[in-house]
Amino acid sequence: SAQTETDLSHVVRAALEVTAYGARTSGITVDTDFADDELTVMAEADHMVQVAANFLINSQHALVNRPGDRRITVRTFRNAEGMPGFSVEDNGPGIPEEIRHRIFESYFTTKPVGVGTGIGLSISKSIVDRHQGRISFTPVEPHGIRFVVEMPALSLPV
Ligand code: ADP
Ligand code: MG
Repeated sequence: SAQTETDLSHVVRAALEVTAYGARTSGITVDTDFADDELTVMAEADHMVQVAANFLINSQHALVNRPGDRRITVRTFRNAEGMPGFSVEDNGPGIPEEIRHRIFESYFTTKPVGVGTGIGLSISKSIVDRHQGRISFTPVEPHGIRFVVEMPALSLPV
């Protein structure tokens, strides 16, 4: 699909919609924190929706059957360098240090056969790379993980 002017908040809202059923049926609370200003990027909107949805589905998997509070927090923001971005954070078990360097590899999965294919994050990384964006993750305390995408700011005509 072609790259067009795309509002990252719309991207994230669309991903929340397509994953809402899984969150609801797993008893997950989804908190959102959207930036006030418009976060316009040049992007293939449907592919960016896929990236956000992959994060959300992984967070659902991480939280399913967990005792206690199950929570996903989704944010859109502009970072200190002016890059628009979004993040998906969950309070699941997080990612063990020993496997962190492998999670973007094709077919790397810790899920049972039939549940995980190990392609979600590798596809997500290739989509973000193609847009000259950044994809990263960071552990959150006391447990959990946050995935972050930062995109080149739209260069305005002068
Ligand atoms: P899959 O979901 O099919 O396993 P992915 O590429 O989406 O493949 O993810 C690769 C692996 O990264 C997962 O199997 C899991 O071990 C780890 N992972 C990804 N997201 C999370 C998360 N939110 N919490 C814990 N582990 C995660
Ligand atoms: Mg996945």
